[in-house]
Amino acid sequence: MTLKCQPSASHFINGAYVEDTQGAPIECVFPATGEIVARLHSATPAIVEQAIAAAKAAQKDWARRSGTERGRVLRKAADIMRERNRALSELETYDTGKPLQETLYADATSGADALEYFGGLAGSITGEHIPLGEDWVYTKRIPLGVCVGIGAWNYPTQIACWKAAPALACGNAMIFKPSEMTPLCALKVAEILIEAGAPAGLFNVVQGYGDVGGALVTDPRVDKVSLTGSATTGKKVYAAAAAGMKHVTMELGGKSPMIIFDDADLEDAVSGAMLGNFYSTGQVCSNGTRVFVQKGIKDAFLKRFTERAALIKLGDPLDEDTQMGPMISGAQRDLVMGFVEKGKSEGARLICGGNIVEGDGSFIAPTAFADVTGDMTIAREEIFGPVMSVLDFETEDEVVARANDTDLGLAAGVFTNDIKRAHRVTDRLEAGTCFINTYNDAPVEAPFGGVKGSGVGRENSKAAIEHYSQLKTVYVKMGPVESPY
Ligand code: NDP
Repeated sequence: MTLKCQPSASHFINGAYVEDTQGAPIECVFPATGEIVARLHSATPAIVEQAIAAAKAAQKDWARRSGTERGRVLRKAADIMRERNRALSELETYDTGKPLQETLYADATSGADALEYFGGLAGSITGEHIPLGEDWVYTKRIPLGVCVGIGAWNYPTQIACWKAAPALACGNAMIFKPSEMTPLCALKVAEILIEAGAPAGLFNVVQGYGDVGGALVTDPRVDKVSLTGSATTGKKVYAAAAAGMKHVTMELGGKSPMIIFDDADLEDAVSGAMLGNFYSTGQVCSNGTRVFVQKGIKDAFLKRFTERAALIKLGDPLDEDTQMGPMISGAQRDLVMGFVEKGKSEGARLICGGNIVEGDGSFIAPTAFADVTGDMTIAREEIFGPVMSVLDFETEDEVVARANDTDLGLAAGVFTNDIKRAHRVTDRLEAGTCFINTYNDAPVEAPFGGVKGSGVGRENSKAAIEHYSQLKTVYVKMGPVESPY
């Protein structure tokens, strides 16, 4: 029987689909029903070898092309992605379980944005001229070489494109390993790049578990590793890359604060809290899961939040009216439910949800706790599910100190109508990205990444160019060489 989303083979290397059935099986499950939609194989050492050799061979010639020429390929790929948005969104929905209502707007389109943006920038990646009297120095921004991208399962298309677009724009080649939970979307990105004119071997996809990622990270032919994943995996991958003196970008998890002051617009604050906790069923790294609400607005906030949360339409993600889909897997659902039980047993007050929705899929009702204190497990650990914690506060100084009391620092949000306070507070928050009167917007033009344990490096924006290229300095002497010898 043909499976619904079966690709012609597991890996995409050197411009073509490649299989090696010796690799451990990977079952791709539609999380809404439990149906197996594709069967693939993890990469064997032979597949990893093919991918690295292909990337290494393709990179040199690609780097010799002009930036404009490289950019043209990326921009064409962006156009193809947009033309195929519906099919790509449906595949993303099968891969992740995220509702079509989201995937039609936030996945292939966001990937296309990255390809278009970095395609546009490719022709202006330059060094500088530094005059030194008669002599001068010039710098060149040169590629790193072969880059490895390793993705989490929440945004498989977006993550592949956010890494590939700047890497390729700078003249690198890439090998991308998706999470084994969501192996399908990156293969489509690889197909589209070839169709757009990228040379074979420039962007390769290999499937696999953590061991495949490990094999890629430690190979001496790999020059850079960009990981999107948990803080725990990040530490391992960072250490492995450091042993080979490789460049890294680490986009890791968070436990981000969202601060709602008494003077905030109530509906906007509730919208921000819902978006920052329930979008993609809460499986978003930058989610504002610690919602600090000032005492004066607390009752109104909780009332309005629960009213609106009760209206969320949970169900079949392929139905465009559905607003929330399942968790990625039964295992993730159980992990999240473990946190919910902890919340209850440690004394937080459940104000909505808190239950599994019975059926074949891994659904959890949108959940929120009030009266959460900073020492509770749900306020300290990243849950990666639709579970919001509301904490009370009274003063600005107090809330800033409590918001910063975490090892992580991916994002933070402030809702207030006091313009001075908004900037004063964001100034003091230890986070890579801050939002004022909104939450979780991530346009490609803006740098994205964390401070503290949430990672190093930045994705998107011009800043990403610095993380996929390096400077070569050339000193030019015009006069005779002065020598004491
Ligand atoms: P994991 O950290 O479990 O996995 C991330 C990727 O790393 C997977 O492809 C995984 O493969 C691979 N991997 C695991 N171990 C190793 C290893 N030793 N060497 C090389 N690769 C390895 O994350 P999840 O997939 O569970 O994703 C959720 C996490 O990602 C959350 O913490 C979330 O906050 C974070 N995230 C961060 C984002 C950001 O931009 N900052 C965005 C999205 C998510 P395998 O799955 O096969 O183990």
